[in-house]
Amino acid sequence: MRILLIGPPGAGKGTQAVRLAAHLSIPHISAGDLFREHIDRGTELGQNARSHLRDGLLVPDEVTLGVIKERLARPDAERGFLLDGFPRNPAQAKALDGILADSQSRLDAVLDLEIPEAHVVERAVGRRLCRRNREHIFHVDHSPPERAGVCDTCGGELHQRDDDREATVRKRLEVYRRETAPVVDHYRAQGLVTAISALGHVQEVLDRALAAIGRNGDDARPR
Ligand code: AMP
Repeated sequence: MRILLIGPPGAGKGTQAVRLAAHLSIPHISAGDLFREHIDRGTELGQNARSHLRDGLLVPDEVTLGVIKERLARPDAERGFLLDGFPRNPAQAKALDGILADSQSRLDAVLDLEIPEAHVVERAVGRRLCRRNREHIFHVDHSPPERAGVCDTCGGELHQRDDDREATVRKRLEVYRRETAPVVDHYRAQGLVTAISALGHVQEVLDRALAAIGRNGDDARPR
């Protein structure tokens, strides 16, 4: 399956993307994670992307498209993928349409994670990520680790992303409204969008997402 996950900061895209991708046995491709990997490795691309991430702004399209094209060309993406955080503006969406057309494939679904704006800041600011594995995601109130500051999964140290501070979250929300919300309209016109409420427990949202793509969430539930 080829799926896109769209939603404002704080909607829980990363949390859901990791679970959905595992459930469907497809790679989770997060543009933000790809940039953070470049920044951590100190590549030239990472150095160019750094200030955009810090300020909550979009990395220029030519840079983003290069990173995404390279990732989609890897063999594990041949049987499908879950894109998280890309495309983030209509030009990127058109570029993705072109990439898919070139490989004679198409998207199966676009899941639009909806969250009332009143929740956005609190959800993003309370998020904590594991330094060892950025896919281990917690929230100080809604999904706290057993020991404060320590990852339940691997014992790594938890930290707050620089761009999850309140002023930057507000900036990211503004960018989302202006640049990313029209992407939903682009895919709505193709009949691909299902809106999903991002409120409630992680498992409830996952069940809604699985139902939206015609999968039963029962076997995704811990027993
Ligand atoms: P995320 O991890 O999805 O919250 O993304 C973190 C940051 O990475 C964003 O605020 C942007 O600075 C950058 N970024 C992620 N995805 C994109 C994209 N598709 N286009 C441009 N910049 C992006």
